[in-house]
Amino acid sequence: MPTLFLATANAHKISEIRQILGPTFSCRSQRDAGVALEIDETGSTFAENARLKAVTWAAYLGTDVCNLGVEWVLADDSGLEVDALHGAPGVHSARFAALDDGRRGNSSDAENNAKLLRLLADVPVERREARFRCVLALTPVIPGAPYASLAEATRHFEGSCEGCLQVQPAGRGGFGYDPLFVPDGYDTSFAELGETVKGTLSHRAQALARLADHFRT
Ligand code: IMP
Repeated sequence: MPTLFLATANAHKISEIRQILGPTFSCRSQRDAGVALEIDETGSTFAENARLKAVTWAAYLGTDVCNLGVEWVLADDSGLEVDALHGAPGVHSARFAALDDGRRGNSSDAENNAKLLRLLADVPVERREARFRCVLALTPVIPGAPYASLAEATRHFEGSCEGCLQVQPAGRGGFGYDPLFVPDGYDTSFAELGETVKGTLSHRAQALARLADHFRT
């Protein structure tokens, strides 16, 4: 059974990844390591940011300070791309509202959703196309390996989910932009559909299916 370290502090992502991967993978997280690494997501793409997080954690865990016995680090970088906003918020999804006042760190989901609705106020329903994108970076934990060789050994797995944005939030499940996002083929938001349905069709589910295939072959 592969042992993965999930390089995220986002409890919703951890829960979704665990639920989607199921018992075939053993997953640990920051709570097991007992430390939180501050990683500035300075990349301009989801892949760059995912790799940054995976390699930084792999280098740290490779020093064996935590002795977690994990073989791989898995990082998820994801976000929402809105066509009418030329792909925004994209890599800035977690700190979309905070960008306006130069605040460091992420803004709350409520603030981000409110900003999105404000920017889309004049955009008609038929022009509210959007997609969630997820890039997973998988890096081996190799004791003593330098950062550059860990970066070289990193693999990426991608997924995306097309849909459109509602004019008001609906539903209590999920996180982030889930109350606004209606996936193609449905007429209710991810937040209304719930974790089980979201877990079959989301951007994260598709990327994780590719990761699972990689371990099967
Ligand atoms: P990251 O942690 O830097 O990858 O930022 C991810 C941000 O994208 C989250 O804080 C959410 O705002 C948004 N996001 C990513 N995946 C999802 C999802 O599955 N549902 C809703 N929002 C998401």
